[in-house]
Amino acid sequence: MSFSTDFGSMAGVFAAAVESADALITVTTTQKEIEYVNPAFCDVLGYDLKDIKGKDIDFLFAPFSEENDLTTLYAHLKEATRWRGELQALSKDKTTVWCRTTVSPVKGEDGEISHFVWVQLDITEQKELEKKQFTRDQRLSGILDNIPAYIFSKNSAGQYTYANKMLAMLHALHTDDIIGKTDFELFNVEAANVFTRNDEQVFTKAKTIRALENAGPDEYGIERSYLSVKCPLVNAAGEVEELLGMSVDISEQQRLERALRESEDKLNSILNNMKARVYIKDMDLKYTYANQELCQVIGIDQVNIIGKDDYDLFELETAIGFRATDQEVFESKQKIDRMEMSVDQKTKEKFYYWSVKVPLMNANGEIHSLLGISTDVTEQKRLEKALRRNEAQLTTILDNLKAHVYIKDINYCYTYVNADMCSYLGKTKEEIEGKSDSEIFGKKIAKRFHQSDQQVFTYRENCSSIEKSRHYQTGKKRYFWSVKVPLINDLGNTYALLGISTDVTEQKRLEKELRELASTDVLTGVNNRRHFIELFERDLKQAKRYKTSLALIMLDIDHFKNINDSFGHSVGDDAIKTMTRLCQESLRDTDVIGRIGGEEFAILLPQTDITGAWQIAQRIRQATENSCFDTTTGQNICNFTASFGVTELKPDDTSPDDLLKRADIALYDAKSQGRNRVCEN
Ligand code: GH3
Ligand code: MG
Ligand code: MG
Repeated sequence: MSFSTDFGSMAGVFAAAVESADALITVTTTQKEIEYVNPAFCDVLGYDLKDIKGKDIDFLFAPFSEENDLTTLYAHLKEATRWRGELQALSKDKTTVWCRTTVSPVKGEDGEISHFVWVQLDITEQKELEKKQFTRDQRLSGILDNIPAYIFSKNSAGQYTYANKMLAMLHALHTDDIIGKTDFELFNVEAANVFTRNDEQVFTKAKTIRALENAGPDEYGIERSYLSVKCPLVNAAGEVEELLGMSVDISEQQRLERALRESEDKLNSILNNMKARVYIKDMDLKYTYANQELCQVIGIDQVNIIGKDDYDLFELETAIGFRATDQEVFESKQKIDRMEMSVDQKTKEKFYYWSVKVPLMNANGEIHSLLGISTDVTEQKRLEKALRRNEAQLTTILDNLKAHVYIKDINYCYTYVNADMCSYLGKTKEEIEGKSDSEIFGKKIAKRFHQSDQQVFTYRENCSSIEKSRHYQTGKKRYFWSVKVPLINDLGNTYALLGISTDVTEQKRLEKELRELASTDVLTGVNNRRHFIELFERDLKQAKRYKTSLALIMLDIDHFKNINDSFGHSVGDDAIKTMTRLCQESLRDTDVIGRIGGEEFAILLPQTDITGAWQIAQRIRQATENSCFDTTTGQNICNFTASFGVTELKPDDTSPDDLLKRADIALYDAKSQGRNRVCEN
């Protein structure tokens, strides 16, 4: 064969080529035993031929892995076909060497395969570069897919050639599904028109553009705006092939900005319409802001006040006062509220302000300004003063009033009590206010009070009554004329009652005394003539109605003139009083005695007939005769008698006078018969 002959003549040249080749060349037997390795092999893998000659080539390769696919390699060799692939070989010092490997079977002169030739190129460096490139690519797509922006590239036909995950997610599509689509397929027409107009600029001018793309409302009605950067991608021929774009959705920022602007406008209009002075001063106490109210008062506009301080704007004393508060805010770094005063430059009139001053700090907590709000409280202060004066007057009046004044809420708890009430109860204001009636007076009295209280609350009517209670110390019963008035609030609801209770115990006593005075005799305390006749009329009617007996005794002290003349008028009075006592000692409860003349008495005896009356008269007569009495002058008078006339009710009697006349006649008989005796008629 001419072909092999040619080889033969070239053998030396081939050998030299193999020996000097950069590729790693190995010749093995069909059993993969190494027969030859070239210098490049030894150089790269660090083995000498003599070390490895005869060894199975398998030892060269790193333990099996996906990348080290020896199985397919051997399958190829068995079929005597060439194999190409990448293998990882291990050098003598155990470093991995990536090899692009071609294994070719070589036939001997007999036409049978006698050897395998392994030609391997060291591609370790290339492999590492590839690996680096791969991680770089991954990192880049990681960034592109997760950046909060839409990143894309489009061709001149407006079709997407790349879209990051964010953009795909916006359309709920897979990134691959975006490729090839245009904006008109993805966005509404309005948005697509805006985008493509900008895209065309990039293509025609071959320049990077930055644009705010207002895309109109999205499917949810939210106005969408994008801040986009689009740059041309130019090919080797200098033509713009594609554009690369990045869009950031700034709709939310825009919305916030708008809202902020609106709220700023609102704030400004509030501040400018406030009836308070609002201002900001910097660390040098120069104004950086003042609302219209403050500017108006000073007579300056909102621009010109900036940079001025209080000394420029106010009278000296006023400015010093303001400054003192301001400095305190900066020193204490705290909010201060304080009453401030200003003096009118011309009129010297004083104005009062309630000022709240707050330090304004930056993010690091350093104070840069103070914000002040000052409200004019001059009128309020004047009113307060007047009110305090009125209140003081009222308190003085109420506390000096000889009556209990109190306010009780709807739960019967005292919310106000005056001094007189405190002293009556022997408690302090604090001990009473907030307490209920039952806590102060006990349940029984409280219940009585509440009857009239309830009437006031329910009918919203004044209510007056006599109330009884006992003095805390003496325990004596006291009477009060109590007036209760409902207190009604702005809403028309009764929230409390005002009570005024006047102590009328003394009046009551006087009244009783007066009543008694009208019916009794001052000297003896027994019924006077008028009242005796009244009682007589009553008993007479009763006796006639029930047909019971009724008797009358009339008596007169004997020779009374003599007592008066001998011992004086007051001894005479003593005699009259002694006579009264003697009568009372002989009478029953139902019997009625009256002094009907100077030393003349009448005794009415219900359910008594003339015999009974005669016996009683005799008993009194006897007692009188036997009695002596001491006078105030020390004398003892014993010759002291009286005469008695007795009568009883007769069917024809119609008035006390009928009996009185008959008794008088009997008495006259007793006198004329020698006195100190009882006669009847
Ligand atoms: P006789 O036995 O006839 O009744 O004689 P007498 O002295 O009692 O006569 P008479 O009844 O006429 O006198 C009443 C006198 O009593 C007249 C008057 O001066 C006196 N007298 C009347 N009221 C009082 C009184 O309140 N106090 C005193 N001390 N004297 C009185
Ligand atoms: Mg007489
Ligand atoms: Mg007499």
